[in-house]
Amino acid sequence: QILEARLALAPSGGERGVLVMLRDITRSRQLEQMRTEFVANVTHELRTPLTSIQGFAETLLEGALDEPETARHFVEIMLRESRHLGALIDELLDLSRVESGKFRMQRRPTVPAELIAATAARFAQKAERAGVQLVTEAPDGLPLINGDPDRLVQVLSNLVENAIKYTPAGGRITLSARRDGDGVRIAVADTGAGIPQADLGRIFERFYRVDKARSRATGGTGLGLAIAKHIVEAHGGTIGVESEVGKGSTFTVILPALTGPE
Ligand code: ADP
Repeated sequence: QILEARLALAPSGGERGVLVMLRDITRSRQLEQMRTEFVANVTHELRTPLTSIQGFAETLLEGALDEPETARHFVEIMLRESRHLGALIDELLDLSRVESGKFRMQRRPTVPAELIAATAARFAQKAERAGVQLVTEAPDGLPLINGDPDRLVQVLSNLVENAIKYTPAGGRITLSARRDGDGVRIAVADTGAGIPQADLGRIFERFYRVDKARSRATGGTGLGLAIAKHIVEAHGGTIGVESEVGKGSTFTVILPALTGPE
């Protein structure tokens, strides 16, 4: 705990005395530190692909251009790194909008099964190419939710995309919705790598990645889950995860049902 002490002397002429004010500034110190860390992280994350692009461009100019095979390989890497840089910038923008409350949400009565169908349709091809089965389960008659369908599909897409990334061929991803008390529980379960217990509590943090090297190779930014959490919470919902290494992970989004007259 950090306390800030202020000493105020009573104005001369009046009652003689000293006033001591103590204020707990632990929280603001923590926020300040988080901000500093975030800026350092962002800088590092943006620097890394940029350094790589510059390095390969220099190598090309220094002679590698004369070897078509090598040159082609380098240009491919440069393209991949610039795409990664682009994705980072887009996600950073999303994150800053969502954190400052400037993210435009257009909420309306939404059918959960449609969110599931839209997400599954987006990833059918990708799952097939990765050799994983993508199945959906959504019973009829689920309550409506008051949500922004595009944003919610963005959340589910992030979860399914991760599930595909971290599930080896032959695995299975289940995208399901069911009633949960007064709300709706949407789950993305995979039979993939799983997440160690020690990391589970941190994966929703910005830039947190369990395996940095592997995540970079698959093009991850480490921002997806942080953005997803914000969007879900802006809907009055919660997001959580259960996982077992080697068996798979289940991400769960619980959203309150639409209430009131419609
Ligand atoms: P990334 O862009 O790196 O995927 P996310 O914020 O989406 O960033 O995820 C954070 C980290 O959580 C990932 O780097 C990965 O280590 C872990 N993770 C997320 N989803 C899964 C999953 N389905 N299976 C295993 N690990 C996962």
